Amino acid sequence: MKLIILGAPGSGKGTMATVLRDSYGITHISTGDIFRANIKEETPLGKEAKKYIDAGQLVPDEITISMVEDRLKQDDCKVGYLLDGFPRTIAQAEKLDEMLKANNTAIDAVIRVDVPNEVIMGRVVNRRVCTSCGESYNVVTRPTKVEGVCDVCGKEVVQRDDDKPETVEQRLITYEKNTKPLIDFYEKKGILIAADNSKDPKAAFEQASAALSKLGFQKIQ
Ligand code: AMP
Repeated sequence: MKLIILGAPGSGKGTMATVLRDSYGITHISTGDIFRANIKEETPLGKEAKKYIDAGQLVPDEITISMVEDRLKQDDCKVGYLLDGFPRTIAQAEKLDEMLKANNTAIDAVIRVDVPNEVIMGRVVNRRVCTSCGESYNVVTRPTKVEGVCDVCGKEVVQRDDDKPETVEQRLITYEKNTKPLIDFYEKKGILIAADNSKDPKAAFEQASAALSKLGFQKIQ
């Protein structure tokens, strides 16, 4: 199964992606996580990407597309995958179609995670993430047991630089302009699934998995 999860920053797509990965036994590919790992390692890719990420802008298509192209060639993608944070532009979506078509395959479904704009800002500025395993927390609704320490792996939990309010505003503008048109793009292909994540993440996941089940995809756990 090949999935895309689409949603604004703070829509909860990353959290839902983890649940989908575990429930369907597919590989989770987050372009944001790959960029952050490169920034941490201070690779040339990381140094280049950081300039855009810190400004709330998109990393240029040619950099992002070739990074994803390499990632999809890795063995763990053979079991199926979930793309989280990619594509983010029509050009990326068209290139992805092309890449898959060359291998006689296609995306099975695109899950659109819906959250009203007014809820998003509160979620993002309160978000904290583990610098090691990527687990996501919220200082109000899901704090760590020990402040600043990941419940899962014990490493440091911090606020992402791009989760500061000034950058979040720019990221939302970028989302509206570049990424929202993808909803139409995939709706026209008839592969869009809606998941209302304004309240309960479990309900949003169940909504998506009911639609996946109709397409013939069953959970493994
Ligand atoms: P995320 O963790 O998905 O919110 O991504 C964090 C940041 O990484 C985004 O705000 C962008 O600057 C950059 N980024 C992630 N995925 C992409 C992509 N597909 N295209 C361009 N930039 C991206």
